[in-house]
Amino acid sequence: MMGPAHSLSGAAAWLGLGAAVAVAGHPMPWPVVVVGTLLCAGAALAPDLDQKSATISRAFGPLSHALCGVIDKLSTVVYNSTRSRGERRGSGGHRTLTHSSRWALLIADGFSTAAAIWDRWGVLVILFIHVVLAVEGLLWRMARVSSDVLVWLLGAACAWILAGVLEEPGNGADWLFSGAGQEYLWLGVPIALGALVHNIGDALTISGCPILWPIPIAGKRWYPLGTPRFMRFRAGARVENAVLMPAFMVVGGAGSLVALGLIGA
Ligand SMILES: [Zn+2]
Repeated sequence: MMGPAHSLSGAAAWLGLGAAVAVAGHPMPWPVVVVGTLLCAGAALAPDLDQKSATISRAFGPLSHALCGVIDKLSTVVYNSTRSRGERRGSGGHRTLTHSSRWALLIADGFSTAAAIWDRWGVLVILFIHVVLAVEGLLWRMARVSSDVLVWLLGAACAWILAGVLEEPGNGADWLFSGAGQEYLWLGVPIALGALVHNIGDALTISGCPILWPIPIAGKRWYPLGTPRFMRFRAGARVENAVLMPAFMVVGGAGSLVALGLIGA
């Protein structure tokens, strides 16, 4: 799928989860709903940072462009060194390492640890990165019409405000993990969910997605999991804009009402 569909699916996934836990009698504080939605929308774009040519490689200017080059090289090395005998040698890393559930958990773990160690500063950086990615994802090429600097300023302002809100007692810094020093550990949950939702989205497209790497399926460690062939579509196809994106909006909209306690539950 393309950026907007990925980011919308991430936002819808978090809002759907928010609704589910509210129905189960454990509603999220509203800042957790808002921050989680932004993190999940941003994280749902991040797996595509594995190729320099992707629109998203420009999210943080030359810094992200260089990072994409590094991730592409790293992914290629990991692909070639762990591929099964029947799998062809790869020359690019797109849709390999960063499109696996292992990577989703690793990245989420890294960000959670950073938040636990650096506290407010860690939270600010995590929020900034993901808000910028969410804006880039949702606005896609329109974000290029305005200037990059504007998007970064918006990300920084959002991060600053939201980190301040989260800090207030009862606003959810210690949601999910309430032990001493475990504040903000939950930030890894929407980040992992976003990456997983991205993988599922790509699994609906023609090329599939190696979600279960390195578990071999049919003798292939990088087996591209996906829906039955006849149901798959090309990334960016009409079905994405005409069916999936409206569906994500409905799920997200309804989910937010239930998650915030405005209806039901
Ligand atoms: Zn992808």
